[in-house]
Amino acid sequence: MSSKWLLTWLIMGGLVLGLIVGQLLHDPDFTITQPDREHAHNQVISAFYFVGDTIFLGLLKMLVIPLIATSVIVGVTSIGDFRELGKIGSVTLVYYVVTMLIAAGIGLVLVTTMEPGKQISSEEVAKGQETYERSTGIQTNIKHRPEGVLGALHSLVKQIIPRNIVKAAAQGQALPIIFFSIILGIAITTMGERGKILSQGFSALFEAIMILVHVVIWLTPIGVFALLAWTVARIGLGVFTSAIGTYMAAVLIGLAIHAFIVLPLFCVVFARTNPFTYMHQMRQALMTAFGTDSSSATLPVTIECATENAEVSKKAAGFVLPLGSTINMDGTALYEAVAVVFLAQAYGLELPTSTLVLVAITATMAAIGAAGIPSAGLVTMVIVVDTVNSTLSGMGETNLLPIAAVGLVVGVDRILDMVRTTVNVWGDAVGAKIVDRLDKKQTATIK
Ligand code: ASP
Repeated sequence: MSSKWLLTWLIMGGLVLGLIVGQLLHDPDFTITQPDREHAHNQVISAFYFVGDTIFLGLLKMLVIPLIATSVIVGVTSIGDFRELGKIGSVTLVYYVVTMLIAAGIGLVLVTTMEPGKQISSEEVAKGQETYERSTGIQTNIKHRPEGVLGALHSLVKQIIPRNIVKAAAQGQALPIIFFSIILGIAITTMGERGKILSQGFSALFEAIMILVHVVIWLTPIGVFALLAWTVARIGLGVFTSAIGTYMAAVLIGLAIHAFIVLPLFCVVFARTNPFTYMHQMRQALMTAFGTDSSSATLPVTIECATENAEVSKKAAGFVLPLGSTINMDGTALYEAVAVVFLAQAYGLELPTSTLVLVAITATMAAIGAAGIPSAGLVTMVIVVDTVNSTLSGMGETNLLPIAAVGLVVGVDRILDMVRTTVNVWGDAVGAKIVDRLDKKQTATIK
């Protein structure tokens, strides 16, 4: 068996075992009936968190910033021509926005036809509000949200331009590093011979970091096992059959339609590639995304699969994948659109079609603004709630959607995050393949 297959089977084994062990450990009654056992139970769960988050995610995150910087510089310097960079950049951005809008649209069709919010009782609504009151971490993040769509745009631009590049890198902020690396890459391409020395240096550094990725990737089976066991032990798979189950089904069906129909169509039409072969080549990245809930932490594996298994050029991968891991989130856009309409339904609010269109647009904006980390989409979703509220009050409606409504979906967020992050990474991968194909086609025409 080749080492790639061995690793694939091990990761799959880790995921399945994580689900089983997590479910076996899940016991909602521990807190009430057996305080001693609860303590031991919590220690086991904390051990999973230590292995999954502190060790595995820690190592991946350690590689992310240097990898983003070098891969973007290598991508930009190998594009070389400024106009070509502009063309690739615009194709990439149009692809991101169009696919996110389609994803949000799919979510809206499903949530308005399945109407999961209408199955929620007033006790469950009250319980959700209580959950929100207890979720102090989420409340703090929500309090710092930008005001409305313009506020979100403003904060995005503010995030992109770093005042202090070292501080941004130290804080693990991807967008400012990408921005700086793009302009540094452009500067290097204007330097002639001396620039070549620099770009070769960055290319060598990129390869050195990829050697580290090859090593860390072998920890993925243990890492995803621990993370999944930790998640499932706390939440339990029983949530799928609870009152919120239909909401979860709407999100999951939407994500499946987007991943298995829409993105494959893009792959066939614009990249002229068999989407399922490509999905297979990207399998380790997709499974890592499922296990880690983080597009950013998965980035090293995504770059590795795209460049080594699927022969995407460093040029396309270096430009599209790092940017995509923080901006392009189809799964998150779909999830936010479904979640907000679900909450509105649970609170007995009817949203007119014009508001639904606005929900699709703001969900896309909010997904762009979400970082590639666990539960980021849950927090930026509040921007969509704000927009819904301001249109409702503009229509003279006094009954608005309270922010505490978010409590209704907090409990199952992590489970849905696993799937939407996988779709986010799959969307980035398809984007890289499209840009790769356009670029290779153009080079062939010039020759
Ligand atoms: N966890 C997602 C990601 O990293 C973002 C989100 O939707 O919360 O892509």
